[in-house]
Amino acid sequence: MAKLSIANIDIKGKKVLMRCDFNVPLDGNRNITDDTRIKAALKTINYILDNDCPVILCSHLGRPKGTVKPELSLKPVAERLKELVPSALKVMMAPDCVGEEVREMAGALKPKEILLLENLRFHSEETGNDDNFAKELASMAEVFVQEAFGTVHRAHASTVGVTSHLTAVAGFLVQKEIDYLGDAVNNARKPFVAILGGAKISGKIEVLKSLAGRVDTMIIGGGMIYTFLKSKGISIGNSLLEEDKIGTAKEVMEAAAANNVKLLLPEDHITADKVAPDAESREIPELNIPEGQIGVDIGPKTIKKYVDEIKSAKTIVWNGPMGVFEIDKFAKGTLEIAKAVAEATGKGAVSVIGGGDSVAAVNKMKLNDKMTHISTGGGASLEFLEGKDLPGIAALKDRV
Ligand code: AMP
Repeated sequence: MAKLSIANIDIKGKKVLMRCDFNVPLDGNRNITDDTRIKAALKTINYILDNDCPVILCSHLGRPKGTVKPELSLKPVAERLKELVPSALKVMMAPDCVGEEVREMAGALKPKEILLLENLRFHSEETGNDDNFAKELASMAEVFVQEAFGTVHRAHASTVGVTSHLTAVAGFLVQKEIDYLGDAVNNARKPFVAILGGAKISGKIEVLKSLAGRVDTMIIGGGMIYTFLKSKGISIGNSLLEEDKIGTAKEVMEAAAANNVKLLLPEDHITADKVAPDAESREIPELNIPEGQIGVDIGPKTIKKYVDEIKSAKTIVWNGPMGVFEIDKFAKGTLEIAKAVAEATGKGAVSVIGGGDSVAAVNKMKLNDKMTHISTGGGASLEFLEGKDLPGIAALKDRV
């Protein structure tokens, strides 16, 4: 069911409560080291201000687990918003996210003014989806806008609870996520290629199984490679192995075969004696990895095989790096895949990059602009691709 977006309703002059994902990385001095998530919300914030609305922004930051942790205050975000939203008449920081004083600040808010509430997760009622807490948040506004895609797979007070008390719609960013991920799930143009990497099978079992029934080709990279290879009786040396997921790897390969899905595994490897920048690395030009060696990246033959497959794709979904890309000398596989996805996109393919480390790789290559859609939610985008109903999306108003 399609959901109502902020563009589908009349918000003129109404007080808006917007759930953002301002869970930004901070350094030891509480300086924001990457403001991508704040910038991602600007389009919707500016749209709200242009409609002469006062806006109350709320978010979580880190995992304070229901207690006030000053180091996880959203104050640095308020400071950055002052720089990034020059059209706001005022940007104010609330001392908390609920309570008398906050209610008064919200009540006095004028059009084109921004009030940022303090970290929602300073209260355990947020993750507990407590209805009184949700009601209190909702009571400050007339419309609710969901713009925090990274949290819509969780049923919290600010993702689900509030929607029982206010007209709840998607912001531009969440709408874009729904459109692209939804299309990848339901209307993918073929050939549909899924690239799955990252550390472990265990975090991605559901998406592996679900995509094994829907895509044309599934490309396997990252640490999960070695459990797949082990399940086929191939030597993996000291590479990452999830002993208890050998059965899962077999099931995924069987599901792929039963659905005529091509499942691609590496043919050669880059290995190292340890996973560290000063490791001694080797190219292993064959399938079996010698004893003592750790698989850290895909080899050149594999890169070529994967790139060739990506070239012909019309829809590409990518989640997880091909190797330990944080270490430059083990990053080649991931970077070549990123380049291939960008090139295919340039030739008309739709590319959806799942959150997390594949996004970091794309950023590292400065290829962000070359992809169709970069998801802002790692866990949420995975659950979406699994075909699950995300509670924070399901709770938004249906478009009839
Ligand atoms: P994920 O969060 O599951 O997408 O995993 C991302 C992490 O997987 C990154 O930190 C990578 O360094 C790691 N990774 C990728 N390839 C390997 C590998 N061959 N061995 C160990 N870790 C890996």
